[in-house]
Amino acid sequence: MVNDKGFYGTFGGAFIPEMLFANVEELKDRYLDIMSEPSFQEEMNQLLHDYVGRPTPLYFAKRLSQKYDANIYLKREDLNHTGAHKINNTIGQILLAQRLGKKRIIAETGAGQHGVATATVCALMGIECVVYMGEIDIERQAPNVSRMKMLGATVVPATSGSKTLKDATNEAIRDWINNPVDTHYIIGSVVGPHPYPDMVARFQAVISEEMKAQLLEQTGNEDPDIIVACVGGGSNAAGAFYHYLDTNTRLVAVEAAGLGIDSGESAATSVLGTKGIIHGSRTLLMQTPDGQIIEPYSISAGLDYPGIGPLHAHLIDTGRAEAISITDDEALDAAFMLTRLEGIIPALESAHAFASLEKMSWQSDDVIVINLSGRGDKDLSTYIKRMEEK
Ligand SMILES: *Cc1c(COP(=O)(O)O)cnc(C)c1O
Repeated sequence: MVNDKGFYGTFGGAFIPEMLFANVEELKDRYLDIMSEPSFQEEMNQLLHDYVGRPTPLYFAKRLSQKYDANIYLKREDLNHTGAHKINNTIGQILLAQRLGKKRIIAETGAGQHGVATATVCALMGIECVVYMGEIDIERQAPNVSRMKMLGATVVPATSGSKTLKDATNEAIRDWINNPVDTHYIIGSVVGPHPYPDMVARFQAVISEEMKAQLLEQTGNEDPDIIVACVGGGSNAAGAFYHYLDTNTRLVAVEAAGLGIDSGESAATSVLGTKGIIHGSRTLLMQTPDGQIIEPYSISAGLDYPGIGPLHAHLIDTGRAEAISITDDEALDAAFMLTRLEGIIPALESAHAFASLEKMSWQSDDVIVINLSGRGDKDLSTYIKRMEEK
């Protein structure tokens, strides 16, 4: 658990420009009280149930279990409205923003998944939405840009630097500094200054809360032997691990190795990262010796981030969680493997979690839960290319 300054061990905190202090302080002072209000919980639970479609199933994957000689269950976050876990957090934050009296929402997005989840809840609540997105990402992710526009959001291109996610984040922060009173910034993962990592983890914790009850019902034991989740910033993993942090369950965080850890084209932050500050928190990040951020690379846009949330940096640093890195190629193979064995096309991010089954060992009566963070519709063009190559 985070301390009152926002630290997990030596990671976390709130390293922000003076101009953001009031916004972040307001959020820090009020998020826990608002989240514990009965009316807040009631409204959130109802929306998660009727709008998002929760609880998501915990599915026993029989053919996958036979292949790997284990009892493998999939937590089906791919079945959520908008196709991934990100909506759990945006529903929570929009309700919080309303209670803070905010009239306008801003967000950053890389591949567009968080932008779509944010634009969706803004449409739902009738609130103005501005999404910052790198100019290059706007070109690469045209369908999600169209979705956001159809939902009524304004998509603003970030044209500085590498014109990708970190530049979009910088633009969003600049906007927030200029509009401190009426605007709430919805961050899409367990990153950013305190209280964001803790707040987003709490909104995603519904994943492991449901898992406990579902495992108890299906296996007679609420604790599995292993939980596996992919990590970009780390929000789906934080949600899947949350209620198991103080148990004996093995927690496995799967990162994107891109073309290989030593290839110079990678996003395996726990291996390549060193301690530093990125987007307001002290964590592990990929940087040059003089502190310039190294551009990350992964075939999956959701894992293509140069840092990792401070919670995960701490879990890995203390040995509570294991990190495994998976290359583009291994993830693509795993996506086809899951599709052919279970009839489920996973998001490329989630496919990294499945590929880790090739790299771990266990006992054959072990129960393994894999968090299936999202569905693969958005990655179809990448999958089509793979079929043409083979
Ligand atoms: C965004 C995304 C991720 C990575 O983000 P986390 O915060 O690490 O969960 C993983 N899977 C899917 C499907 C995503 O859309």
